[in-house]
Amino acid sequence: MAPHPKRLIVTIDGPAGTGKSAVSGLLADRLGVQCLDTGAMYRSVALLAIRAEADPGDAESLLRLIDRHDIGFDWTQRPPVATIDGSPVEASIRDAEVGRVVSIVAAVPAVRAALVEAQRCIAAERLQLVSEGRDQGSVVFPDAEVRFFLTADPGVRVGRRVMQLQQAGREVDPQAVRAEIDTRDAIDSSRSVGPLMCPEGAIEIDTSALTLDEVVDRLEQEVRSTVADRVRPSC
Ligand code: C5P
Repeated sequence: MAPHPKRLIVTIDGPAGTGKSAVSGLLADRLGVQCLDTGAMYRSVALLAIRAEADPGDAESLLRLIDRHDIGFDWTQRPPVATIDGSPVEASIRDAEVGRVVSIVAAVPAVRAALVEAQRCIAAERLQLVSEGRDQGSVVFPDAEVRFFLTADPGVRVGRRVMQLQQAGREVDPQAVRAEIDTRDAIDSSRSVGPLMCPEGAIEIDTSALTLDEVVDRLEQEVRSTVADRVRPSC
């Protein structure tokens, strides 16, 4: 029987458009572990609120929706695909309308408490995980083996998000994208619970002038040099 792997949690936090999702997926592949997109979980709650025509700032309504629905992932896919009650919702949670309300939903402390608990359960089941979001290294896994904080110039972040949306076949107004990113970052950074911040002791990397592969190379090197005994050898 294969030896049980040692726990390895790698957190990647940062504002919108720093490339966290792409970086997490590629890093997880290189390390041979799963990745968790915690933004997808907040987006799923926002989608449920929109569908139910609930007030996105009302804790009681949101908790009822979280209780009644199964917010999860299809772990057979790489990267895992966000699901609600077992049905894939990746396309719907990336809608502009979800983008407009998700930070309001994510600022509700009771929603954060429920999702933080769910994220810790996922980590306990997987044991080895790259987890990305806004509060992964500061609140959810402050004892993670390696913690990163990604940044990038605002113009670069908007450009990346525009390209991402265009590649997904969406119509894009760069000014609207900038406004949405600015608004989300402002709400995410100023909320009282789990605000967007560089966790103390985290490795901060400015990705503005780096390609995706260069960022992943840098993170992989850091992880391998910090916890060599917990990572499978590179091919
Ligand atoms: O990562 P993504 O941009 O998809 O996240 C969408 C939103 O979800 C963020 O703007 C933030 O409001 C919320 N979020 C959060 N905490 C996390 C992950 C995402 O508040 N750990």
